[in-house]
Amino acid sequence: MAQLAKNQELEVTIEDLTYEGLGVAKVDGYPLFIENALPGEVALVHVIKVQKQYGFAFVKELRKVSPDRVEVKDKAYTQTGIAPLQHLAYPAQLTFKQNQIEQLFKKQHLDINVLPTIGSPLTTGYRNKAQVPVRMVNGQLETGFYKRRSHQLLPITNFYIQDPEIDKAIVVVRDLLRQYFVPAYDEQTNKGVVRHVMVRRGYYSKQMMVVIVTRTNKLPMMHQLVEGITAALPEVTSIIQNINGDKTNVIMGDRSRTIFGKPYLEDSLLGSTFRISPLSFYQVNPVQTETLYTKAIEAAGLTGEETVIDAYSGIGTISLTMAKHAKHVYGVEIVPEAVNDARVNAEINHIDNVSFVTGKAEEVMTKWKDEKLAADVLMVDPPRKGLAPEFKEAVGVMLPKKIVYVSCNPATLARDIKDLAAYGYKAEQTQPVDMFPQTQHVESVTALTR
Ligand code: SAH
Repeated sequence: MAQLAKNQELEVTIEDLTYEGLGVAKVDGYPLFIENALPGEVALVHVIKVQKQYGFAFVKELRKVSPDRVEVKDKAYTQTGIAPLQHLAYPAQLTFKQNQIEQLFKKQHLDINVLPTIGSPLTTGYRNKAQVPVRMVNGQLETGFYKRRSHQLLPITNFYIQDPEIDKAIVVVRDLLRQYFVPAYDEQTNKGVVRHVMVRRGYYSKQMMVVIVTRTNKLPMMHQLVEGITAALPEVTSIIQNINGDKTNVIMGDRSRTIFGKPYLEDSLLGSTFRISPLSFYQVNPVQTETLYTKAIEAAGLTGEETVIDAYSGIGTISLTMAKHAKHVYGVEIVPEAVNDARVNAEINHIDNVSFVTGKAEEVMTKWKDEKLAADVLMVDPPRKGLAPEFKEAVGVMLPKKIVYVSCNPATLARDIKDLAAYGYKAEQTQPVDMFPQTQHVESVTALTR
């Protein structure tokens, strides 16, 4: 093992990039993780931390520059994790994501062809949603983003990857909170009022929802805030107060009240209209979402005769799109507000061959299996932790002809494909679709058949 010491400076060659976007150099086999460093680069680095298995360093001087390096727009985007890949040219980001999946498949001994990543038409300003903490910094109320692995707020007004209209809205809210002396939340003491501001903007509808998350039931100066927000932002169709009194890292509480306009936002995807409640999940890159769903639906190969299960169905975006090409779609989703949205969405789009159940996918899937529901196609779009063991066991009994797996985490995707192989499922290819430019997140679609 290398004898490295804190504050030591040395020249290293970067060999690899971690899934978090950190450069990796090996010093006599000892890995050093280095922010803002790319494979092939040679740098003089300063060691900041030495642990048993690995250490951390920062670049003091770049001595050989990668051809894939692009200009860093703002160090804050790396420090906060808003855009940890901002220094990597976009085509190289796409290859990086393809390689991530390839490596994880290889680790599980899976022989699956990973196609080139489909790039996002918008590589900045693409996010339709922002959730920003509100805190006092040096005696002033600020909105911004936490530094990575900390709760230290860095004030930011241009968030780079968010719809610029959302950035503007956050500044409007910040200035009103300052003007009316509405207290920011203080995490240390669990005092103060405004914890977060969440803004969503419909890409097609141009409707905007502003959610003010408070610790307290009362939002001081509520009427002045509503008046100020609607006067400055004519797109706002909905203002919600969400109450979260707990000492927690979870952003939203479970109580919401509409203090202006409608209790939901509307947007459309692939020609259908969707209502989205504040607590419901909605994909953040709207143009790429249409590509992702199109790929998933193609992979399902529907003819109009199939019984489909859409597990982790959210507000029913995939279910309703699939229902147009299937006999019946059964959706299951854990968040009651989202299920309610899904049912309303079926109604307003005049789709009646869908039904939605509120519950844990693993439990409802087990119940459906016991009831001998025979699905031809199983669509899954789970959160990062992937499929639960009970879910996979139920699949092993139900044995749908096809599984379409939309994944936001290639590590759990690889694990789940490996597990499903025990029931005879095999995949030929995986299609990565870049939903999150400038970040390390990797989304993909995989079809499995028996
Ligand atoms: N397919 C939808 C939602 C995908 S996000 C879309 O594309 O919009 C994943 C969804 O799974 C979220 O709506 C989340 O609330 C839900 N979820 C998380 N854990 C779950 C579980 N154990 N059972 C069912 N749904 C779950």
